[in-house]
Amino acid sequence: MKPAPFDYLRAATVQEAQAALAAEGEGARIIAGGQSLVAMLNMRLARPTLLVDVMHVPGGATMGIERGQLVVPFAVSQAALLQRQDLLSEVPLLAAALPWVGHVQTRARGTVCGSVAHADPSAEIGLALVALDGTVHLRGRRARSLPAAKFFTGMMQTAARPDEIIESVSFPIARKGTGHAFNEVGIRHGDFAIVSIAAISTGDRLRLAVGGVNDAPLVRDWASLDEQDVDDALNDLAWSLDARDDLHATSRYRRDLVRRLGRKTIKEARQCAD
Ligand SMILES: Cc1cc2nc3c(=O)[nH]c(=O)nc-3n(C[C@H](O)[C@H](O)[C@H](O)COP(=O)(O)OP(=O)(O)OC[C@H]3O[C@@H](n4cnc5c(N)ncnc54)[C@H](O)[C@@H]3O)c2cc1C
Repeated sequence: MKPAPFDYLRAATVQEAQAALAAEGEGARIIAGGQSLVAMLNMRLARPTLLVDVMHVPGGATMGIERGQLVVPFAVSQAALLQRQDLLSEVPLLAAALPWVGHVQTRARGTVCGSVAHADPSAEIGLALVALDGTVHLRGRRARSLPAAKFFTGMMQTAARPDEIIESVSFPIARKGTGHAFNEVGIRHGDFAIVSIAAISTGDRLRLAVGGVNDAPLVRDWASLDEQDVDDALNDLAWSLDARDDLHATSRYRRDLVRRLGRKTIKEARQCAD
């Protein structure tokens, strides 16, 4: 099947892209790397009247550090972020999670902001953004910033308005003494995760973020968690999730992955923090 007809605008500036979204209304969509949107167009799951291409806007692919955050604008590909020389020291959780996002080919075109906008519950980048208390910077008629935890509102649902572009997302730079780890289980490497887990360990404090189970990434914090209490804590977490049966896995299998992958990921994060 081929897409329904649409108009195409290659935006020269963010302002031009935003104005086009505002003028066209619900029928307009941003196209970035096209790795999710083009499949949706071909299956006619999306039938936009106008596609606004933001990949040629000058400066859209230039990352930088601002006020202790790594700022990643809308045209930065997942591959470019993964190739960033200092990523491992700046945002180690992203360095661990990005190799799990699709394949070399999809990462070459797929953007970081496009993945966040698409809001797939199994997406690794959104999970890392929520786990790290990152921020989504939106540009509509006015600019506004939202904590990632408030941005994801459901399955492929976000708090972005139809006339807003994600101008950038920002990830806090890692502090010394903090350990990060990421693991996931999928049918094949590069497939969307059945369950993905990010762990962040700082002193006594521990945070776990779970993807692929609820409609949006879920975060759980513990002020302190002794080794002997880890299994009970993970069991509570597993039962608190909205795990469901689907084509890929049963709810029971998903809960079991949360327990097993959770334990492994906590251990790795604590080792990195030492
Ligand atoms: C074979 C294959 C395997 C994949 N595996 C994974 C995986 O394991 N994990 C994973 O997370 N993803 C996976 N993906 C999806 C991939 O990561 C996409 O790149 C990503 O979901 C969307 O990024 P994109 O730049 O391609 O966005 P597009 O496809 O261009 O757009 C996706 C959606 O986001 C909107 N959008 C894009 N950019 C913006 C913006 N700046 N502001 C507002 N809205 C915007 C578009 O309007 C559209 O609705 C896979 C894709 C393929 C084809």
